[in-house]
Amino acid sequence: MKRVVIIGGGIAGLSAAFRAHDLFGADAEANEVLLLEERGELGGKLRTESNAGHLLEGGPNAFIDPGPELAELVARAGVEVMPADAAAKRRFLCKQGVLHEVQTNPIALLKSGLLSAGAKLRALAEPTIGKRSRDANGDESVEAFFTRRFGAKMSSVFAAPLVSGIYAGDPARLSLSSCFPRLAVMEEEHGSIVKGMMALRKEGVKVPTLHTPAEGMQSIPRGLGEAAAFEVRTGVAARSIAPREDAWELTLSDGEVMAADGLVIATPAAEAARLLEPVSELAAASLSKIPYPHLAVVSLVYVGEQAAHAPKAFGALFVHDNSSDLLGVIHESHVFPARSSEGSLNLRVMLGGATRPDLGGRSDEELLKLVTEELASLHGLTSPPLISQVTRWKESIPQYNMGHAEGIELVRSELRESTAPPLALAGNYLSGISLSDTTASGAQAAEQLHGQLTG
Ligand SMILES: Cc1cc2nc3c(=O)[nH]c(=O)nc-3n(C[C@H](O)[C@H](O)[C@H](O)COP(=O)(O)OP(=O)(O)OC[C@H]3O[C@@H](n4cnc5c(N)ncnc54)[C@H](O)[C@@H]3O)c2cc1C
Repeated sequence: MKRVVIIGGGIAGLSAAFRAHDLFGADAEANEVLLLEERGELGGKLRTESNAGHLLEGGPNAFIDPGPELAELVARAGVEVMPADAAAKRRFLCKQGVLHEVQTNPIALLKSGLLSAGAKLRALAEPTIGKRSRDANGDESVEAFFTRRFGAKMSSVFAAPLVSGIYAGDPARLSLSSCFPRLAVMEEEHGSIVKGMMALRKEGVKVPTLHTPAEGMQSIPRGLGEAAAFEVRTGVAARSIAPREDAWELTLSDGEVMAADGLVIATPAAEAARLLEPVSELAAASLSKIPYPHLAVVSLVYVGEQAAHAPKAFGALFVHDNSSDLLGVIHESHVFPARSSEGSLNLRVMLGGATRPDLGGRSDEELLKLVTEELASLHGLTSPPLISQVTRWKESIPQYNMGHAEGIELVRSELRESTAPPLALAGNYLSGISLSDTTASGAQAAEQLHGQLTG
């Protein structure tokens, strides 16, 4: 009998466990898959709460056209998914406390009042800027890339807020090739981002659509927990792993010691580093260097006359100009009206991240005050919200800073060369932070383990 243990019941661990069960569990008598999750419930960052009939997302709220692995998991969870409303096409940028509507089309974007004439001319010159020299050594930051191609103003007004909206990151530290590999390839292949975008449009490549489960993100792990035909233990953590002759010895938080033929570690990087310490100090050191900034998500529900105040749109991102403490506001009830109560305005505000570590030290009450005051000034939401909820992520999103890819390659090569029993890693710090990429990493880890154990 082969026993495979998956450590961590977020989306990566769930994906690994389902794929491992498909691969190993065909003969249930001979094989066993066990999923361990430290918390009392599955899902990791996927957290949905229902408050007085209003659905509040504390972690991710949607996914862009799911990759095959995520689509398969969603189907297995038996979850109904809905696309975003057409209103989600409208997006705003907030600069110096004023909202400006922006277009995703780069030419229309240049018509907006967000840039000076000189900054617009510089941005328009992008197709004439030569590509980065092949001899240029090492990684390039997201900020340096956008500044080089479009000018400093375009970089700070458009690129920086976008990066904060996705990574809660600092564009001066984030790696272009790790965070936006397609842009690096576009520059290489077309010599220009504008030309690359035009080529995609000619090929008929569609703008991807946002989707969300009708019952909230956490309905996915809940459904998967019910559908699992393998053993799932919640409220139990892996305390340590030790390589023995031809199997792993695992010590669990409930005191049990068990053997496993193969392991998938699907925890955040810092916990993976702690567990890997006895296997490879180098791999552990590399993983422990990946920063995860603090991030707060404030969910607010306004009702009555106030609910009509914010413009029907996806929401707004904030230019880093010291005029606001917010990273972004998503108009949940405009993006997914079908899962919001009629007549309510459901907003989700993000604060903190790599550029505002100071906000991690503020209390929930302070954050709430700060957010409601800004929303009063932006949208005239002067009455208190019916519902407010703060979700804190002490370790939110892994930062793919410069040198990230080399760090991950070092970890992978350490594990390849290790003489320890089979072990694979899964999670959002490896090859993309999106739910689709993270789910794919789980399936790949299970496949790698299957190859090692049966090959
Ligand atoms: C606020 C926020 C908003 C986001 N929005 C989006 C979005 O809209 N769309 C999108 O695609 N992505 C979004 N993301 C990113 C996405 O949610 C994450 O990348 C993904 O959910 C991470 O999954 P994971 O399984 O790698 O890690 P996690 O979800 O962190 O799961 C790891 C699990 O391991 C468990 N664990 C840790 N140590 C142990 C141990 N020793 N033993 C057992 N269990 C252990 C933890 O309890 C946890 O459940 C968002 C992230 C955040 C924080």
